[in-house]
Amino acid sequence: MAKSPVPTTKVDNAGQVHLLVVEDDDAIAVPLVEGLERAGFTATRAATGAEALANRARADLVLLDLGLPDMDGTELCRRVRADSDVPIIIVSARGDETERVLGLELGADDYIVKPFGTRELIARVRAVVRRTTPAPEGERPQRLGSLEIDRRTRRVSVGGAEVALAPKEFDLLALLAEDAGAVVGRQQIMDEVWDPHWYGPTKTLDVHIASLRKKLASPGLIETVHSVGFRIRVEP
Ligand code: CA
Repeated sequence: MAKSPVPTTKVDNAGQVHLLVVEDDDAIAVPLVEGLERAGFTATRAATGAEALANRARADLVLLDLGLPDMDGTELCRRVRADSDVPIIIVSARGDETERVLGLELGADDYIVKPFGTRELIARVRAVVRRTTPAPEGERPQRLGSLEIDRRTRRVSVGGAEVALAPKEFDLLALLAEDAGAVVGRQQIMDEVWDPHWYGPTKTLDVHIASLRKKLASPGLIETVHSVGFRIRVEP
C-alpha cells in the first residue's frame, strides 16, 4: 500500500496521518478503520468517550460519533477542544441544521451525516487535513494595521496580544486577508473554508463572522457586503 500523499500538521516518522475513530457501533467502526487503513491512514478505535479521552493525545485528526454510551459526543468535542486544536470531524446520525451549526460552534472542522460512504468520508478527512496544514516555514506573518496573521503557526494577534481562534475562524480570517479589501463571496467562502460538498446553512458562516468580530474586538474590521459576501477593511 502506497503511503498517503496527504500533508499533515503533525506526523510520525512514516509520514502517516493517525486518526482516532470514536464510534461505539462495531458495524460502523470496523469497516471504517479498515477503509482508512487501506487509504494509507493509521487509526485507533475508541468505543467510548473515556477511551477517546485516553487516546486523543496521539491523534492527528478525530472522527467523532455524537451518540456514545458514556458521554454525549458534543461534551466530548468540547473537552477535546478545550485543550487541543486537533482537527475534529463529527460523524452523526443527527443531520438537521441545528445539530450541524452546534457541531461547528463547538469547534468541529467538518460534519458528516450517517449513512455515509467510506470514500466520501476519506475525501472529507483529506480536505480537513489539507485545510489544517500550516504554511511552510519561512513564511512571514501578514500585518493588517494592528492585526497580525501567522499562517505558519496559525496564530493571530491584535496589537501584540494573541487571540485564540477556532480552526474555522482562523481559516475564514486567513481567506479574507489573502486579498484584503476585496470582496469574497459567500459561496467561495463556503467552498474554501468548509467543503465543496457543504450544502448546510449559510448561518454557519454568519455565526463564524460574528464570533471573529467579537474575538478581534474590532466590529468594523470585517465588512458585510450585503447579499454578496465579506471583506476585510483596509486601513487608509
Ligand atoms: Ca453511536
